[in-house]
Amino acid sequence: MANADGLEGRTAAGGSPRPTRALLSVVVPCFNEQAVIVETHRQISAALAEMQRFDFEFVYIDDGSHDETLDLLRDIQRNDSRVRVLALSRNFGHQVAIVAGLHEAIGDAVAVIDADLQDPPSVIADLAARWRDGVDVAYGERTERTDEPSIKAWAAWIFYRLVNKLADAPIPLDSGDFRIIDRRVVDALLAMPERDLMVRGMTAWAGFRQEAVPFRRAARYAGETKFSPLGSLRMAVDGMLSFSRLPLRIATWAGALAAGGAVVGLAYALAVRLFTGAWVSGWTAVLIAVFFIGGAQMMLLGLLGEYVGRIYGEVKRRPLYFVKERLGNSPSPPVRADESVLRPTRRANGDVLAHRA
Ligand code: UDP
Ligand code: MG
Repeated sequence: MANADGLEGRTAAGGSPRPTRALLSVVVPCFNEQAVIVETHRQISAALAEMQRFDFEFVYIDDGSHDETLDLLRDIQRNDSRVRVLALSRNFGHQVAIVAGLHEAIGDAVAVIDADLQDPPSVIADLAARWRDGVDVAYGERTERTDEPSIKAWAAWIFYRLVNKLADAPIPLDSGDFRIIDRRVVDALLAMPERDLMVRGMTAWAGFRQEAVPFRRAARYAGETKFSPLGSLRMAVDGMLSFSRLPLRIATWAGALAAGGAVVGLAYALAVRLFTGAWVSGWTAVLIAVFFIGGAQMMLLGLLGEYVGRIYGEVKRRPLYFVKERLGNSPSPPVRADESVLRPTRRANGDVLAHRA
């Protein structure tokens, strides 16, 4: 029940109180989506119109599109005052676009949804209902994948299970970035200054109360996917290396095993020579050992390099993205009764994650 402060009582699970009337931000990353973007806005708007006790803002992130997307977004913004558009200075990638949207959003909760209508807008209401019930991160979980090449489906299947085995905090299986995130978790995400981003992994790592909401992922409405097999592979490697140091540990074990084997071999060779008068012969064994150890070392150096490269990327401390254009009213966050609970300072750690236009 609502009390005098306009807040609902503490949720059963002890989560944060939810305002009676909440502002939901809808973040939509867009890269070359001219074929769908108008329809997307129409469908999302229609879905939101069904939802009670919410106000909405749209945050469209144009991720450096080189088609008509930005112009179409301009039109959309002109006709709908709830819309804000952030045009990034170039293409920074899906994950960075999402983070840009999280920075921009001021809602009590933030929904992240793809621009291509693969995430059905009608599911937003289900996610929001879970949020109302006290869930901090309600994420869409695909029950099946339609209309995707089976290699990709397989790769995704393997990827999620592998990352989950390796990661410090389990990343939910078969979930994309379609989700509603409570303000507390949004601020937790924004306090993570890293640049090798995997929003779903970072969200899982943040903790709080997380819950899956099953949904059927649709086929892309129009246009084509921006992800190549190579891009997916890179994301997979990012996911594994950003959330785990296990590969490094495996390297250590493998090295120890090889060295141990060498010691045993040495002892054996010495013993043979000293006690029998014969000796271990053969160049083949030597060559095989040399190649094996050399190859393994190079591989492990490469692995080390992956981590070092990541460290290099992080210590440069470059801003994550630049904004070249901003459309719509720059918002000031509404003052709420629950201010002290829900509204920490944005970018609390003072890191320059983004430059304002
Ligand atoms: N996207 C983006 N920047 C990129 C690539 C993609 O903002 O560099 C957006 C894209 O417009 C879409 C979402 O991210 O809204 C997911 O992209 P896509 O549909 O191509 O990926 P898939 O669904 O095939 O995995
Ligand atoms: Mg898609």
